[in-house]
Amino acid sequence: MFDRNLLQENVSLKDRNTYRVGGAARYFFEAHDAEALQRAVQEAHKNGMRYFLLGSGTNVLVPEEGFDGIVIKADHQHIEVQGDEFYADTGIPMGALVAQAASLSLSGLEWAAGLPGTLGGAIFGNAGSHGGETKDVIGEVEIFDPAHGIARSISAKECGFGYRHSAFKENGGVIVRAVLRLEKGDAAAITARMKENMNKRIAHQPLAQRSAGCVFKNVELAASREGSELARTHADFTAFRDARFLPAGLLIDKAGLKGTRAGGAMISDKHGNFIVNESHATADDIIRLIAIAKAAVREKFGVRLEEEIRIMRSKR
Ligand SMILES: Cc1cc2nc3c(=O)[nH]c(=O)nc-3n(C[C@H](O)[C@H](O)[C@H](O)COP(=O)(O)OP(=O)(O)OC[C@H]3O[C@@H](n4cnc5c(N)ncnc54)[C@H](O)[C@@H]3O)c2cc1C
Repeated sequence: MFDRNLLQENVSLKDRNTYRVGGAARYFFEAHDAEALQRAVQEAHKNGMRYFLLGSGTNVLVPEEGFDGIVIKADHQHIEVQGDEFYADTGIPMGALVAQAASLSLSGLEWAAGLPGTLGGAIFGNAGSHGGETKDVIGEVEIFDPAHGIARSISAKECGFGYRHSAFKENGGVIVRAVLRLEKGDAAAITARMKENMNKRIAHQPLAQRSAGCVFKNVELAASREGSELARTHADFTAFRDARFLPAGLLIDKAGLKGTRAGGAMISDKHGNFIVNESHATADDIIRLIAIAKAAVREKFGVRLEEEIRIMRSKR
């Protein structure tokens, strides 16, 4: 059973996502420990209620109509450190893990300095930056199966990690805990790398404005015929000929879209792959800009952009 004292009704999600847009959740439950998270998911499943697991809301777009089901906020934050390994609940902010790693002279999370969101969100999307990815440090993941009411551990291999991808995007798996494998390193070197990565973020991302990070995935050249053709032949993109990706932000920039506005939202003039809520934007404003960017890049360069952000949809 849900702890009825903690189950809230008609809760605005506006303050629970970094775009600061969207409607309300019909039900909202904050899970402060792993058991509460599992019980909430199981209860929703038993009652045939649609549920959405929310981390810090730094990579979701909440529609104006809100969510007609239960939003379960993963806020369980227990952690145990054993040698070079973290046994961590997935509601923990990545920032806390990065800080803990630095203070223990553990290397492996330098790339994540300044990465917003929880460990669960990072595993779900295999978040990455500055050449590192979440998968690089994952040993095992504990997932919960609401149909059978059991939790089990799976290996990193079974998580099906790829570029901004995990199997959880397809199977809706509930990620409860994870084992992070780090390595003893030099404290000063670790801190220096973290600082350098943080400074790159400050230089390139519109951090003072409300956003959900990169809206689109970069174009993987090995998987996109149009993308690799463009990188071979188009003067604006040949610098990426031998790279793994064509940056989506550059495609949007070269399509002349930086600074494009819809209502209170704008394609950032600092980074083409960010949409920012400049002033009282709605989710619909952001959705309009997403459509504009996709259509323009497709028309101009023949390349299909795919969303990295998740849209919280009530309908199956
Ligand atoms: C300024 C800014 C900079 C950013 N920079 C980067 C970057 O450099 N690299 C990058 O990869 N991303 C970046 N992001 C995006 C975002 O920070 C990451 O995707 C982050 O990992 C999302 O975590 P979250 O807890 O906020 O997840 P949420 O946004 O709350 O959720 C994202 C998805 O994860 C699912 N999810 C969350 N927790 C669980 C769980 N326990 N079990 C199952 N599913 C779960 C949700 O259902 C949802 O589908 C940035 C965002 C911002 C705002």
